Amino acid sequence: MGIRILSPEVASQIAAGEVVERPASVVKELVENSIDADAREIRVEVGQGGRRLIRVTDDGCGVPAAEAELAFHRHSTSKLASAEDLNHITTLGFRGEALASIAAVSRVTFLTRAAEEEAGTLLRLEGGRVVARRPVGRPPGTTVTVEDLFYNVPARRKFLRSEATERRHIDAWVTRYALAYPHLRFALTHDGREGFHSPGSGDLRDVLVAVHGVKTGAALLEIPEDPGSGSSIRVRGFVGPPSLHRGDRGGITLFVNGRWIQDARLAYAVIQAYHTLLPTGRYPVATIFISLPPEEVDVNVHPAKAEVRFQDGNEVFRVVQRAVRRSVLEQAHIPAASLPASPTWPGFRPSDRRPPVWAAQAQEPAVQPALPPREAPSGMPLLRVVGQVGAAYIIAEGPDGLYLIDQHAAHERVLYERMMAQREEGVPSQGLLEPEPVDLSPETAGLVEAHRESLRRLGFELEPFGGSTFLVRALPAVLAHARAAEVLADVARALQEGRSQVAEETEQAVMRRVCKQAAVKAGQVLTREEMEGLVQALERCASPRTCPHGRPTMIHISVAQLAREFGRE
Ligand code: ADP
Ligand code: MG
Repeated sequence: MGIRILSPEVASQIAAGEVVERPASVVKELVENSIDADAREIRVEVGQGGRRLIRVTDDGCGVPAAEAELAFHRHSTSKLASAEDLNHITTLGFRGEALASIAAVSRVTFLTRAAEEEAGTLLRLEGGRVVARRPVGRPPGTTVTVEDLFYNVPARRKFLRSEATERRHIDAWVTRYALAYPHLRFALTHDGREGFHSPGSGDLRDVLVAVHGVKTGAALLEIPEDPGSGSSIRVRGFVGPPSLHRGDRGGITLFVNGRWIQDARLAYAVIQAYHTLLPTGRYPVATIFISLPPEEVDVNVHPAKAEVRFQDGNEVFRVVQRAVRRSVLEQAHIPAASLPASPTWPGFRPSDRRPPVWAAQAQEPAVQPALPPREAPSGMPLLRVVGQVGAAYIIAEGPDGLYLIDQHAAHERVLYERMMAQREEGVPSQGLLEPEPVDLSPETAGLVEAHRESLRRLGFELEPFGGSTFLVRALPAVLAHARAAEVLADVARALQEGRSQVAEETEQAVMRRVCKQAAVKAGQVLTREEMEGLVQALERCASPRTCPHGRPTMIHISVAQLAREFGRE
């Protein structure tokens, strides 16, 4: 095929691909426009995870009737006039690409009224072409409705994940902006049902409570002002006390000059600040806002503007690390630290159902903590955690003696049942910061390719990358901290084992592998809250007594047996 110039339609679809990867990218760009328009209130309505409908309504400055169509031209923006302006960007948008890109791959209705004009404008576009325009009445502000995303780009549509996954990505963007702009009111609905909303009170803690719930929101420590730093870099935000930690870095949220960013190095600065304060393999929770003079940061390095480049990256690293460390060390002794930590191993949920036994003793010293003569729905007795032995087994007391629980096997069971339940909707998946190419043997590559669809349901996003190499773009969220190459090799083994079996069994073999990798290992010291969380999660399982591979999760030693062993009988 000779060289030729692409048609404008194809060229604009390719360009759109850089900005609009999935429904959440549309939400992000539209919300950014509303923020740039000085809106006070931003409403986001989503239908079918964004495939059918995304509508963002704001009460911002609106677009004058004469400029409405211009807003949809590529490289048209009101936020930048010259190349020099690129050196000090203070708005979220500046590339003038979003509306053009979104319109190229969907059906858009743009309804806007500039505050200083009498009437508003309605503009309809399909595949980037204006198909209708008329004056309309509406209060000042803008409503952008995006329907049938990727209707004209089947390749993209095919790669959309489950509705639940796309919803989660959308939720993530809306909550990020709610955190960054606490004085704005955000409201998000999915299919008409109210999801997240922030009060717009201007108080970041109110938004943190809306995002994380009352308990975690209240436990977070505010980073104090550091007037003596002598740096032009300012750090604000909230960090978790050392008792609050998770199994992945997903609890670390970073913003630079009001823009959410992905920056593995700065996330590491936060992690480093907790050095020796957290159990190994655990990560802190933090929401951090960095502000610095706009000319000291280049935001124009990524089409979706999710990455930035600092003039002095080392200095930013130092300032962030110091601010976080100070906050944690200075404040961690105040009551927040003694709040019950939320066990955050995947699959455990904190529960207030069973107060720790020492609390009961403190309140009612005369009464011995009675063990519930009760059972979990699974038929497993309800247990009280006593401790851990060998960093591998949880010791618990039940109605009839002692139980030793294998922490790894038990966690495997919990994860497995959860994954089974999630399979229909799609297992939550976590994109890698940097997609990783993984080489497989030609034979296993063929197997992976053949099972790509079911792997996708299980949270793997894999892309053929030439030869027998796959680009790993996302992993099941429970494996977010694992090494992509190892995970994929392991999955390939499971596929090989499951070859002659029916698809269902192959899928289960993959799930067992995933759960094995994700489960807490023997050798990991667990906090009491984590042990209690695990035992409670196990109690809720349908088959709590064995791991997915059939090994026992627990051993029971009855009171009678103990008496015999001690020669009391
Ligand atoms: P950018 O945000 O990079 O300027 P966009 O394509 O997102 O590019 O938007 C193009 C222009 O349309 C903006 O510069 C702005 O003038 C106008 N615009 C878009 N959305 C809104 C909105 N919600 N309120 C007011 N003006 C808007
Ligand atoms: Mg924009």
